[in-house]
Amino acid sequence: MTERTFSIIKPDATKRNLTGKVNAVIEDAGLRIVAQKRIRMSRAQAEKFYDVHAARPFFGELVDFMMSAPVVVQVLEGPNAVAKYREVMGATNPADAAPGTIRKLFAESVGENSVHGSDSQENAKLEIAQFFTDDEIVG
Ligand code: ATP
Ligand code: MG
Repeated sequence: MTERTFSIIKPDATKRNLTGKVNAVIEDAGLRIVAQKRIRMSRAQAEKFYDVHAARPFFGELVDFMMSAPVVVQVLEGPNAVAKYREVMGATNPADAAPGTIRKLFAESVGENSVHGSDSQENAKLEIAQFFTDDEIVG
């Protein structure tokens, strides 16, 4: 089933000029980038986005990291896009990520792990709505 998911290219990757290389992996996997913008996250945006992790010991560090350089927010579309993109991203900790995944190829650590991807269709909808209006998703 054609589905949408939400993706972020995180500060460690934008700083190292890896936006194109990350998106090449995404496109080669059959996912289409149907919306895209480069933004600087505010503290409020980062805190809202990772609200589910607010009680975790790494929350402050995570929010500071997400604000530390530009990020690229994207909507990806394709068959089973949520699960497909999680597979393409690889495990949260790059040390555990499978060969060929974005995190195995590019991530520096469990905290600075190059990409975000939604973990369910419900969260994908909420995350897309946090960063894009319907008319910004152009196909
Ligand atoms: P994301 O939500 O960014 O796609 P994920 O779903 O693979 O990643 P989560 O468990 O949702 O992993 O964690 C969210 C983010 O918090 C991770 O991507 C990482 O940047 C950071 N994080 C998770 N665990 C740790 C940790 N132990 N130490 C530091 N940062 C962490
Ligand atoms: Mg997550």
